[in-house]
Amino acid sequence: MTEFDATVVGSGPNGLAAAIVLARAGRRVVVLEAKETIGGGARTEELTLPGFQHDVCSAIHPMGLVSPFFQTLPLAEHGLVWRESPYAIAHPLDDGSAAILELSLEKTAMRLGVDGGAYERLMAPFASNAEELFDEILRPIRLLPRHPLVLTRFGLAGIRSALSVAKRFRTDAARALFGGCAAHSFLPLDAAGSASFGLVLAVAGHAVGWPCARGGSVAIIDALAGYLRSLGGTIRTSNPVRSMKDIPPSRAVLFDVTPRQLADIAGDALPASYVKRLRRFRYGPGVFKVDWALDGPIPWRAPECARSATVHVGGTIEEIAAHEAAIWKGRNDGKPFVLVAQQSLFDDTRAPAGKHTGWGYCHVPHGSTEDMTGIIEAQIERFAPGFRDRILARYARNSVQYEAYNANMIGGDIAGGANNLMQVLARPFVQLDPYSTPNKRIYLASSSTPPGGGVHGMCGYWSAQSALRRLT
Ligand SMILES: Cc1cc2nc3c(=O)[nH]c(=O)nc-3n(C[C@H](O)[C@H](O)[C@H](O)COP(=O)(O)OP(=O)(O)OC[C@H]3O[C@@H](n4cnc5c(N)ncnc54)[C@H](O)[C@@H]3O)c2cc1C
Repeated sequence: MTEFDATVVGSGPNGLAAAIVLARAGRRVVVLEAKETIGGGARTEELTLPGFQHDVCSAIHPMGLVSPFFQTLPLAEHGLVWRESPYAIAHPLDDGSAAILELSLEKTAMRLGVDGGAYERLMAPFASNAEELFDEILRPIRLLPRHPLVLTRFGLAGIRSALSVAKRFRTDAARALFGGCAAHSFLPLDAAGSASFGLVLAVAGHAVGWPCARGGSVAIIDALAGYLRSLGGTIRTSNPVRSMKDIPPSRAVLFDVTPRQLADIAGDALPASYVKRLRRFRYGPGVFKVDWALDGPIPWRAPECARSATVHVGGTIEEIAAHEAAIWKGRNDGKPFVLVAQQSLFDDTRAPAGKHTGWGYCHVPHGSTEDMTGIIEAQIERFAPGFRDRILARYARNSVQYEAYNANMIGGDIAGGANNLMQVLARPFVQLDPYSTPNKRIYLASSSTPPGGGVHGMCGYWSAQSALRRLT
């Protein structure tokens, strides 16, 4: 008798999701987390001043809400409350206006004026079949799709570049709105497949909005962990796994780590050819992030921006495309696309009364240590004059510091690997079951497997399904 049926290495959203699937199936599970606290990319900490709660990594969770697995979990019973802002995304422009994406597709289209019809024609086939679409794409590729029509339509549009799809729009507003969503891919906006990210994130906005979690992203983790413990699962923190010798006796080991780490930890237990493929896995650009304690709300010139938890700061699609292309060439063009979140406007637990939090990051070359604080603040100031005067304190982290914070963020890559077309269609690489390895005991469960980055738990869910097939 082994003490556990399964060990999960890493307590990110995917690690906890995998552990829950196994525990729900009656397996004895232990989660081993290297750091003192659980949560991976979904932790919340008082990074600046007492009383200011900052999301260290993830902040905004459309993918958490559309996740077919999270929808089956009693997360509300374990304390998770979603906080919606009236708008999902605001994207300010230099003329003082802002493009807005809201739950209603019709209202979003109406605001886009001459581009309203084109926007509706692009999004409606997906927005009206959002459940079917997410059922198809939040999983490894299925040979026989359940919803072939919506998937084919999505594939035909999504495989294109964001810049080519945006050509159907005439206004800066519609083009920037789509480009901002697509830039979450970390891809150059002329790259094949970059349009798919724009579509997925916009459709999620029309399906469920872009919410944050009351009390911080850690509330998602606390709810997952609370539910796991209620099922009898065990979690051990300050428990780094450096080799297979650190794993307690168990029949299956699910790794919530990226391919390079799996090769380092379990290379001796895997065939050399497989380890070689793990080491060929490609990582993407990094991030530089700043958290602010603020004396008041961010003073956006466009008042609509104050009604959205997420603000995409970067101007036109051409500017965003220029920056995203530059970072792949190892350069920073000085005008980054900054993803800004202002959770405290919609969640009064984040800051003392009358004060606010700000969260902002931009993409940088892989492994960059350049201090982007001033450049990020200048971009926000451009659309919110007076922003700098509201800063009480700030906390910044570069790509290398992110990797030190969480070993999965190699070179600051927060997406679990580059989102090039091949690695989006099949990650970590092409194989029938992307979660299993040639060693029947070892599985990959992190965002380096389908469906990739984001706090949705689906990689862990599918990995655990794969492990269960062999455990029974
Ligand atoms: C700045 C930033 C902003 C983001 N914004 C968003 C957002 O708004 N919305 C969204 O959905 N996503 C966002 N993300 C991405 C999201 O955080 C990740 O996609 C998600 O956390 C991936 O989950 P995971 O379980 O695969 O890995 P992780 O969350 O990275 O968890 C991996 C865990 O494994 C542990 N670990 C690693 N190696 C070992 C080892 N050898 N032994 C033991 N433990 C180990 C790590 O300490 C970590 O706790 C953001 C990320 C960052 C950094």
